[in-house]
Amino acid sequence: MRFFPLIITGFLFLTGCTQQDLSEAGHTGIARWKDNKRAAISITYDDGTIHQFTVARPIMDSLGFKGTFYIITGKIRGSAQGKFIGRPVKDIIAETADAQTNADNFFERASAIGFTGSGEALAYHTNAGALYESGKIEEAYQLIDEGYLKLRSGEIPVSEHNPQYARTDSTTWEDYRSYAADGHEIASHTVTHPRLAVLDEVNMLYELEQSKADIAKFLGPASTFSAECPYGTEDERVMEYAHQIYPALRNRMPEPWLEEINRSSSMQPGASDREYVQWQRGPLTNIQMQTMKSWIDTCVSRDNLWLVLVFHGVDGIGWEPRTGEELREYFTYIKTKEEDVWVATFAEVTKYLRERKNTEINSELMGDRVRVVLTPKLDTSVYNIPLTLKTYLPGDWKKVSIRQAEHLISYKMNKDETGLYILYNVHPSSQEIYIESI
Ligand SMILES: [Zn+2]
Repeated sequence: MRFFPLIITGFLFLTGCTQQDLSEAGHTGIARWKDNKRAAISITYDDGTIHQFTVARPIMDSLGFKGTFYIITGKIRGSAQGKFIGRPVKDIIAETADAQTNADNFFERASAIGFTGSGEALAYHTNAGALYESGKIEEAYQLIDEGYLKLRSGEIPVSEHNPQYARTDSTTWEDYRSYAADGHEIASHTVTHPRLAVLDEVNMLYELEQSKADIAKFLGPASTFSAECPYGTEDERVMEYAHQIYPALRNRMPEPWLEEINRSSSMQPGASDREYVQWQRGPLTNIQMQTMKSWIDTCVSRDNLWLVLVFHGVDGIGWEPRTGEELREYFTYIKTKEEDVWVATFAEVTKYLRERKNTEINSELMGDRVRVVLTPKLDTSVYNIPLTLKTYLPGDWKKVSIRQAEHLISYKMNKDETGLYILYNVHPSSQEIYIESI
């Protein structure tokens, strides 16, 4: 009895091979991940603090990794800074003496208070936003009333100074331009890092659109693909606006084939049966290195995980910082798994996935060559990440030449249970690809 299943398996395998040589040769698919790896990892940083660029970025460069940096554009010299757009603030302050904060005036008041000139007033904006987003609406209104009472009484001074401006650090657009040229993704984290969920329409749009406009102006439109709305918000109203302005948000993606596990979720990545799982983890200061490494091991043990790491502070500057030494240890560990994991920016992974899901393939064996035609459904000037194709070949082919137009394309040949195949990367384009036996 013990040998019986083995014999059957062997028989089926041999039969399968013969049949698949006929039916599978010429078949082409797009690998789930670039270079046919088992998982993707995006290393992202929020808030544009200086050590992300002077400490973390060089470590990544030394390992050949590219990161995604969500920057606060109002902090950078030369770009448009934060401001309140609306009625005179003194009128809004005066009105609060007669009318309590309610659903009709909350967004305007919560927008304006952050720009009345002090860090304490800004904290009223931020804290009211946190209450609002956790469903404590009445408490948020009361907090705004408390803040305006202090403004009216003079306990908090009103001035032209903007506390957001004080956070200017030494990163320049020129530096960002060189990082982007090196392949890092520099992307929007708004103008002033507000609680977008409590801004009124015009102020929310300014934060999202002005940040995009400055990035386009200083870095070019290619850097305006993805964005992260501050505090990881998933507020419906914010998502609706932001999705109209940026093609991709780390906050949330609309794809039905993508499960998203956010930083605070305890859902296990294996619990979803969707084709892709974007698994966000925040390596905060107190997260053990062992835990951080286990996330990488989990990626390698499955085939559908996109781990999105969300770093903030580095070497003492920024929220929940990690030291450069820790980053070096962690990224070096990721490097040891590079055969299985594709390390790429948030934009690159998003583009690859969307391209794969929106490209039609026509592939057929014709004598001693295979003809492959891709029909990309997305704008290939934006969705321009090379796709990894896997084409099955007749079992007796030894070597091939692959051409798309006049370009010779390199490949790797291998075998799996289905048969002989090649892996090769092509730009998404409708130009025919010919694979010839040589
Ligand atoms: Zn942030």
